[in-house]
Amino acid sequence: MMNEHSLKKTLSQLNIGGLRYFDSIGSTNDDALAWAATGAHDLSIVIADEQTQGRGRLGRKWFSPKGSGLAFSLVLRPSAGQRPHLSRTVGLAALSIAESFFRLGLAPCIKWPNDILLNRKKAAGILIENIWSGDDVDSLVIGMGINIYTNSVPPPEFLQFPATSLEDALGRETPAREEILFNIISAFIHWRERMGTDELVKGWEQLLAFRGEQVQVHTGGDAPIIGRLLGLESDGSLRLGDSHDKSIIIRFGDVSLRPSA
Ligand code: ADP
Repeated sequence: MMNEHSLKKTLSQLNIGGLRYFDSIGSTNDDALAWAATGAHDLSIVIADEQTQGRGRLGRKWFSPKGSGLAFSLVLRPSAGQRPHLSRTVGLAALSIAESFFRLGLAPCIKWPNDILLNRKKAAGILIENIWSGDDVDSLVIGMGINIYTNSVPPPEFLQFPATSLEDALGRETPAREEILFNIISAFIHWRERMGTDELVKGWEQLLAFRGEQVQVHTGGDAPIIGRLLGLESDGSLRLGDSHDKSIIIRFGDVSLRPSA
């Protein structure tokens, strides 16, 4: 069973800033934001067995029932060297989750900007929130929700995009959640040291879902942007090609990417 003791034991081999564990919490991001505001160290982790108010982007809900998945938030206090590259943070997080899936023999993809897919269904999501100090980011909170067991998959009426879990994709015994968390945090520490490199952007780009395919991007305006998904810009923006192969660059924001029917 995952608890504070099992987590401390697993994470003791990694250089994390601190750990807060909850059997049940509203949202790990909310707790991590409060902790960051009162001095949490870099790479502190807030993790819960259950979230009752788990959040997605724009107030959407993230389903994370008891005993079903991983729901945690990392506090980052960026160094001066990392500051110019903070727009890549969502890629860093997505790559780290993807890598933990690769280790299990799966073939994850990243649905830009913030979801990880298995078999074209959503298996994990990321929600990044910043704490500002004037014009600078003082700290970032990276929430990750990963569907581990089948019971983490929300009912279909809850979804705009199909969902799955690690257990469903593996079709065999699923490793303990602590082990998967360990692999995610290890990968995160590895890639974070390479945050300013092309290697990170290339690694992220290679995993993009729908590459080369016609996609629609909903930006909140009336008509979706339609084009062929080509790749990433160096800051992590998405590059599509229109019908004349002219580039369309899509920056972050509240966008939803879908394959074109
Ligand atoms: P999107 O990336 O699809 O635009 P968000 O990143 O805001 O959406 O994530 C929230 C949405 O994800 C919810 O509205 C819901 O449809 C879906 N969702 C919520 N919980 C889960 C889950 N455990 N697994 C897969 N999808 C989920």
